[in-house]
Amino acid sequence: MDEILVGGVWRRGGGAPIETRDPATGDVIAVLHGASADDVEDAVRSARRAAADPSWRALLPHERARHLTRIADLISERAEDLARLQTADTGKSINETRALVASASSTFRYFAAALETLEGALTPSRGPYLTMSVHEPIGVVGAITPWNSPIASDAQKLAPALAAGNAVVLKPAAWTPLVSLALGRLITDSGLPPGLLSVLPGPGREIGEAIVRHPGVGKVSFTGGTATGRTIGAVAAEKIMPVSLELGGKSPTIVFSDADLDQAVAGVLFGVFSSSGQSCIAGSRVFIQADVYDEVLDRLVRQTERLRVGPGGDPSTQVAPLVTHAHRDRVAAMVETARKEGARVLCGGRAPEGPGAYYLPTILDGLPNRSATCQEEIFGPVLVALPFTDEEDLVAQANDTVYGLACGIWTADYRRAWRIAGRIEAGTVWINTYKQFSISTPFGGMKESGIGREKGREGILAYTRQRSLYWGL
Ligand code: NAD
Repeated sequence: MDEILVGGVWRRGGGAPIETRDPATGDVIAVLHGASADDVEDAVRSARRAAADPSWRALLPHERARHLTRIADLISERAEDLARLQTADTGKSINETRALVASASSTFRYFAAALETLEGALTPSRGPYLTMSVHEPIGVVGAITPWNSPIASDAQKLAPALAAGNAVVLKPAAWTPLVSLALGRLITDSGLPPGLLSVLPGPGREIGEAIVRHPGVGKVSFTGGTATGRTIGAVAAEKIMPVSLELGGKSPTIVFSDADLDQAVAGVLFGVFSSSGQSCIAGSRVFIQADVYDEVLDRLVRQTERLRVGPGGDPSTQVAPLVTHAHRDRVAAMVETARKEGARVLCGGRAPEGPGAYYLPTILDGLPNRSATCQEEIFGPVLVALPFTDEEDLVAQANDTVYGLACGIWTADYRRAWRIAGRIEAGTVWINTYKQFSISTPFGGMKESGIGREKGREGILAYTRQRSLYWGL
């Protein structure tokens, strides 16, 4: 695969070569030419033409929906190949990539149905006129996605943006372009009119920024780190352009002593170590009520030591390698910082011998919530445990972070769950569960974890602009 999708045409990218490696072995699996600034120009020009094409604009909702359903069907048909490709590209376990591919297909199916709900409102007269408001496509959407769940992140932007009638220029992360290109190939095979989708892998500072700055791009939907989100938000402010930002997190999980501790321990471990911790919603700080602190911590450590660390392609693997060796080294450096801050390393705390980008699942304690380890997103398999005594103490510590993405609460007391859930600054709160998703439930961050919501009706409205009309009577 050495072609990128520019305005409906597959061609060799004009940019620098991109090398992708299998994180389990370090072997090069593909080298392709990324996009250039000229490719961005061509893609945006074609996207503008395709979005304005009268035959695309005139499609009735159910006709546009048919395009999305066809894409969903093709994702399901090619599911195993897509999952294997994503495992090779990102290192993720095959069980997880199968689930991500299934979720991408349901996302297209959901937005095929949701686009039928975009009807406008007709308001009875408040004067000698009738008013009407309609949702219209924005035109060209720039979609910029990270490497940690590429096909799911791509689908969460492409499906609602296309459903709302836009064209999309997608820039996947440079480290993991393969599955986004395969999705692009599948979408062109589905018969979507050419030009409505371009897929431009390349460096963020060059290709991502060129897309965001381009005057022909009317909205940017970004998922990635908070620092990048701030840069993109500043450009959007200059352009007065709407922007959706799905950013980082340092999510608290909370275990009260009255919880079902088996369920809580399993949930906390899944919350932090699935995806090897490379997840925006990783529950990376666990607050444990002081009277069960030792017991819960002991169980967490014993079960973590039993987790199977191995290649993503092996279905029995529970903790797969990290996305690159460079990222693994960054995680290792952050654990060294934790040691210098005085952390006790209760398990893990090192990379195992061997060629892959592995890091052992790690549990730390003995650090205050203000430490760098408890404040900075590590994006690896590292959990910090902190005790709490009462609710006030807990809420103050859990909220003492710039992030506000997610939270998990384990307790048998539903009144307490309700009370605490309402006080934690997080866009998603799970109670007695973690990392469950429904495509109809909005997802997004508070504070520096982002602006806007994906999924649900909000997920499609984010790709529309509203026009109000007055009809004189
Ligand atoms: P990143 O911010 O480095 O990169 C994300 C994307 O932005 C990539 O495609 C990159 O090439 C591009 N980019 C980089 N600089 C850019 C610029 N100046 N202008 C335009 N585009 C630019 O993030 P990452 O390391 O790829 O992903 C990890 C981060 O993503 C973590 O912080 C994680 O929490 C976050 N994330 C958030 C969510 C969410 O839904 N909130 C989901 C997944 C990941």
